[in-house]
Amino acid sequence: MIYFDHNATAPLDPVAKAAWIEAQEKSWFNPSSPYRSAAQVRNRLNAAREQLAEWLNRPPEWVCFCSGATEANNTVFASAARVLDPSVKVALSPLEHPSVSAPARRAFAERSLWLPMAANGLVDLAALPDWLDAHKPALVSLQAANNEVGLIQPLRELTELCRARGIWVHSDAVQWAGRYPLESLPAVHALTLSGHKFGAPKGVGVLVIDPALSPGLLWGGGQEEGRRSGTENYPAIAAMLAVLEARQGSRLSKLQSEAPQAVIEAARRLWGERFHCPGRDGGAAVLWNTLALTPPRHAAHRWIHQFERRGFLIASGAACSTAAQKASSTLKLLGLSDAEAERTIRMSAGWETTLEDWQGLAEALADCWQALERDAQSDANGLGTVIEID
Ligand code: PMP
Repeated sequence: MIYFDHNATAPLDPVAKAAWIEAQEKSWFNPSSPYRSAAQVRNRLNAAREQLAEWLNRPPEWVCFCSGATEANNTVFASAARVLDPSVKVALSPLEHPSVSAPARRAFAERSLWLPMAANGLVDLAALPDWLDAHKPALVSLQAANNEVGLIQPLRELTELCRARGIWVHSDAVQWAGRYPLESLPAVHALTLSGHKFGAPKGVGVLVIDPALSPGLLWGGGQEEGRRSGTENYPAIAAMLAVLEARQGSRLSKLQSEAPQAVIEAARRLWGERFHCPGRDGGAAVLWNTLALTPPRHAAHRWIHQFERRGFLIASGAACSTAAQKASSTLKLLGLSDAEAERTIRMSAGWETTLEDWQGLAEALADCWQALERDAQSDANGLGTVIEID
């Protein structure tokens, strides 16, 4: 099976696996225990914290290890609701993952607003200064990159506009981490990452947050400077750092960034202009690994099944909205009808994906289309026969 669903989760990277096994064998002690082998783990944990702080240009005290982005994003809004004045507003983009939008709605209800968006799916920077001045949110949340269509948001520009107005900025950088260097993210007040999206084990993530915004959420043993109690999962943290370190040096080849083009060209040969690439159509920058495609016919689940029969694992929209069975707000924002959203498939590659894998996917697109058209034709014939008998 060739895996094209890295935006949902990535396979364990060999570098992460080696680091995890080593830490699990040698550094499994509780970092809070009172002997030297535990102190060593404590030192390693703090070295990991310092490394992340350096990459993200934030103080080490801001780095809080946790279970993943859902926990981290929930913590941001639950903490903001406790720390900020009860009358303040928050603003988010309508492309946010539900682990951002749901806790924001829960904590701020009608005081959570949508940022102004341009038709290409990016925050409307031209409208933003006046909008911020008119609505005066205390906290703005904007993802670095989108999981469904890969759109890369103008986070740096938004951060500057917010900072100039004394507004806190949070960014869900889950789909950015491990794909581009962390150093190229702007210095925000809160940032969230999830290890399993880039090859670390599941159940480990990072919340980088100004302690003034989040004095803590989980109370107990007082780990993580008292802000997130619970014995630190050092082996998973070591694995996450090892894979991030390896990726910091990975430079994207032209071949990798242009590989999705093979599928777009195959689509053009099949359908002319009768398809969409949500996110890419508007001309904005997208993640190099992500391609969303809206074919002219057939529901996404049928495409997924056909691709799987040919050895390719792909997805529809977001894995999370598949579970929720809800039309994606991201695709709607990009102007797709409900029917088009229902047909939209997502292919997301990893560092191990080759150009040949993408070319194989492009060839499979034509085969899947023929099979689906054939099935639809025989269904229609079958239906015709039933009607005749009736
Ligand atoms: N944010 C984004 C952009 C995501 O893609 C995901 C995972 N689909 C999450 C947050 C949540 O991450 P996790 O499920 O690891 O908590």
